[in-house]
Amino acid sequence: MRVSLPLLDSRQATPLEALTGPPEAFRHAPLPTLVDRKGRSISYARLSVTDRCDLRCTYCMPEGGEEEHETQSGLLSATELGRLIRLLAKMGVRRFRLTGGEPLVRKDILELVCAAGEVTEPRGLALAMTTNATRLASFASKFAAAGLGSVNISLDSIDAERFREITRGGSLEKVMLGIDAALAAGLEVKLNSVLLPENLAEVPALVAFAWDRGITPRFIERMPLGLDTEAAPVSMANALAVLGDAFGGLNEPDAHHGPARYVANERGQRIGFITPITEEFCGTCNRLRISSKGDLRACLAWRNATNLRDAMRRGADDHELAWGILQALAQKRDGHAFLDQSEHEHRNVGMSLIGG
Ligand code: SF4
Repeated sequence: MRVSLPLLDSRQATPLEALTGPPEAFRHAPLPTLVDRKGRSISYARLSVTDRCDLRCTYCMPEGGEEEHETQSGLLSATELGRLIRLLAKMGVRRFRLTGGEPLVRKDILELVCAAGEVTEPRGLALAMTTNATRLASFASKFAAAGLGSVNISLDSIDAERFREITRGGSLEKVMLGIDAALAAGLEVKLNSVLLPENLAEVPALVAFAWDRGITPRFIERMPLGLDTEAAPVSMANALAVLGDAFGGLNEPDAHHGPARYVANERGQRIGFITPITEEFCGTCNRLRISSKGDLRACLAWRNATNLRDAMRRGADDHELAWGILQALAQKRDGHAFLDQSEHEHRNVGMSLIGG
């Protein structure tokens, strides 16, 4: 069966352009590695497994949650997830991250991690997860046994009351248990905090908390996605000013090696900054994203997506899927346009829907 993959506007799910299937020569050639038209090699895939979350962070989701969610049967299954990871590995992707929403709200999350780990572990590929850790305590050791190597834990405050306010009801205690369990299971742990006016003064305390546990803290400039995008942004420079007052003696940020830049104290303890707004890193972007319903986006900042789930369910073979992935990659733009109001496409579109 020949299957063509429509290129979709994934916000409206309207076909923009019907693509033809791969040419005959492509069908019989080895699968190509993923390089975009700017020469950027794609070696990192972020795969969302759900658009749901058990928290309602004020900057991310409406208080009552998103209005629409993908149905259970519409989500990529463990078999489909494993197949996509296997295919992407053949095309040169070396690092895989499971994201959401919150991955652990999926009832079959262990099955998903096992399916991913069965591909990545024997090949020596990296498998990671981003989680809010509220449910991690009971899963961390099982995930480690299934091949997960690291977790990025989202934590915007270590003050229980402020955490509850930012997450609209979340329990800091559960997150702490999740962090402890991840460390005990031998997972590499990073802490990610979104820089907000509400937590700027707490940045030194977040750093001390992480360093006390041998963890590298990272601070992320908020992108104008999701809700309340007009809120005053907090930058790396704002955070460094607060940190300088608290710690002093931090060296200058190093050059970009990937999205994060790091400063360190005289003991070599590091603090990372991810600066999509003040110092974007799109020129070295190596990533693509697949949403929980199988929409592949070559760039977070633009709407175009190719749906791989539907192609798989219609019987596409690996070369047909690979052709669709290449078509999506051909749409990857040079970078985002977050600061350009006329271009920016994602105001009021939550990360949980895009695939974090
Ligand atoms: S905005 Fe797009 S090009 Fe820039 S780093 Fe993110 S995914 Fe890559």
